Amino acid sequence: AVTTRTPLLAGNWKMNLDHLQSIAFVQKLAWSLKDANHDFDGAEVAIFPPFTDLRSVQTLISADKLPIHFGAQDVSAHDSGAYTGEISGAFLKALDCQYVIIGHSERRTLHNETDEVVNTKVLAALKHGLVPVICVGETAEDLEKHGPSAVPVAQLKAALASVTGAVDIVVAYEPVWAIGSGQAATPEQAEQVAAQLRVTLRELLGDEVAEATRVLYGGSVKSGNIAGFMREPNVDGALIGGASLDLNEFASIVRFQK
Ligand code: PGA
Repeated sequence: AVTTRTPLLAGNWKMNLDHLQSIAFVQKLAWSLKDANHDFDGAEVAIFPPFTDLRSVQTLISADKLPIHFGAQDVSAHDSGAYTGEISGAFLKALDCQYVIIGHSERRTLHNETDEVVNTKVLAALKHGLVPVICVGETAEDLEKHGPSAVPVAQLKAALASVTGAVDIVVAYEPVWAIGSGQAATPEQAEQVAAQLRVTLRELLGDEVAEATRVLYGGSVKSGNIAGFMREPNVDGALIGGASLDLNEFASIVRFQK
């Protein structure tokens, strides 16, 4: 992609690896990326471990000054109080989280997160100085009924309701039919929707934010298909689930992202 946007390769661990396993994994990941060119040829690497790993990951990354960014997989819409089981954006910020994934399709479908909930979480993340990685994507049924871009665009508009100004956000286009299925979208499909999402960003937040915002593709990304996505002008990286748990695969994705 011919752009000034720094590519972002983001590993969504989902509910995998406990805090001890996370330490071993991050150490090995840093080691296997060591001989990659300085800052991975200009790309940024981020991992999204479970909440219970974040303190360990923070400690390791800061002690060894590892060039790995990190964030959480979800955040509460609330700041503090009587919300049993929830995690505040303030707590994530206190652990040096830079990012937080919001509106992943597994949260939307398994935890009934509506567009309104996603919006309140985006506002909470921004309020606490976290960069929301806003996930949008259509189901196979949506695709058949409404075409490729309608649902992702509507989800992005809803997620950004009452968001204004020069906000730092990331958008991840993840077709639900491509997540964990082994059936990735084609680079052309990803580009088509990513381009529409950027048009939407332009409408809502203006040229500058639209140009600066990374739009990722997610859904069955692996070392064998990453290069095709990265060649597309509006695809600025990937959100990687399954393959981010395989050290060699993830390191290869980071290396071959060009
Ligand atoms: P996958 O998951 O790479 O395993 O398809 C992507 C995601 O859910 O973010």
